[in-house]
Amino acid sequence: MDISKYVPEWILSLTPYQPGKPIEEVEREYGITDSVKIASNENPLGPSPKAVAAITAVLPDLNLYPDGDAFYLKKRLAEKLGLDRSRLILGNGSNELIEMIVRTFVRVGESIVVGEHAFAIYHLVNKAAGGRTIAVPHTGFRFDLAAMAEAVTADTRIVFLDNPNNPTGTMYTRDEWEAFLKRVPSDVLIVVDEAYFEFVDDPDYPNSLEYHSDGRLIVTLRTFSKICGLAGLRVGYGVASPQLIDALNRIRQPFNVNSLAQVGALAALDDEAHIRRTQDNNRNGLAYLRAELDRLGVEYAPSWANFLLVNIGAGVAQRLLPAGIIVRPMEGYGYPGYARVSVGTPSENARFIEALERIVKEA
Ligand SMILES: *Cc1c(COP(=O)(O)O)cnc(C)c1O
Repeated sequence: MDISKYVPEWILSLTPYQPGKPIEEVEREYGITDSVKIASNENPLGPSPKAVAAITAVLPDLNLYPDGDAFYLKKRLAEKLGLDRSRLILGNGSNELIEMIVRTFVRVGESIVVGEHAFAIYHLVNKAAGGRTIAVPHTGFRFDLAAMAEAVTADTRIVFLDNPNNPTGTMYTRDEWEAFLKRVPSDVLIVVDEAYFEFVDDPDYPNSLEYHSDGRLIVTLRTFSKICGLAGLRVGYGVASPQLIDALNRIRQPFNVNSLAQVGALAALDDEAHIRRTQDNNRNGLAYLRAELDRLGVEYAPSWANFLLVNIGAGVAQRLLPAGIIVRPMEGYGYPGYARVSVGTPSENARFIEALERIVKEA
């Protein structure tokens, strides 16, 4: 059967996401039992213990559908953020919200603007919806916000920014952001993906929630996947005007956030101890990795997130595997020879450096 007769060209030309092998398979292949997976920016300290306890308690209720309005989670989020619940939407991971936003705003043939080395999902879901992507070159490892504002055309519906950006780890400053806001036409939606904002401690970091005013089309996206260690649960949220949230809700599946995710996220929101531990581990881990990479003479991009984009060299990611070290090669993001290395526990970071040092010294 020639399936291409039935499927639109913009779907056929997509490349399916290539998931990594399950960690158990990698371990079996190399005969190891204690591998270090620092490839996906997951929380190395595990999930919020409060979330785990809350989830365990509701397992007997799995026969029931989830609350389609996530009443309690929205209530607590609204309190924490100091805003009305009508400005909140929850997603099956913030990735689902990215997809809902594109489907709501972009018509076939219209465009979005992204950074050339931004999170790939923006382009993928846009292409799947028949949209065009305008990818703007970075300056160094950073977004060029002035050029991105400049790149907006008459048919541009959305500009996507992730701050800090995955996979470079870089952030843009308040000054750059405010200049950008002045340049971008008010009928273009600005999506600010703040998946890593809890890891940033820089006074120049602009919290996009402070810019949701005077009729601006803006969405802030956040997630429980990283700081709370709940990537497997799939839950994230968006903040926008009630009118914009109402538009998104029209295409939202009624039960898009499952009941365990709602309960787990609610408990994790108030797990200050786990959040603090995660931030401390990350700060110390970044400092350690930077110092060790400097010692080895290995280059990396400056990072404000929970990972580093490291120039480990072509083929090195593969050579780290027999030592049980799993990092994410970045050819696909336009950085050949680089890998994205997530901050692990102190012992995981040390094992990565040890294995890398052995390879660097062989060269
Ligand atoms: C990890 C990450 C997310 C989180 O996605 P979820 O679907 O919430 O797990 C979102 N945006 C960026 C840029 C990320 O790196």
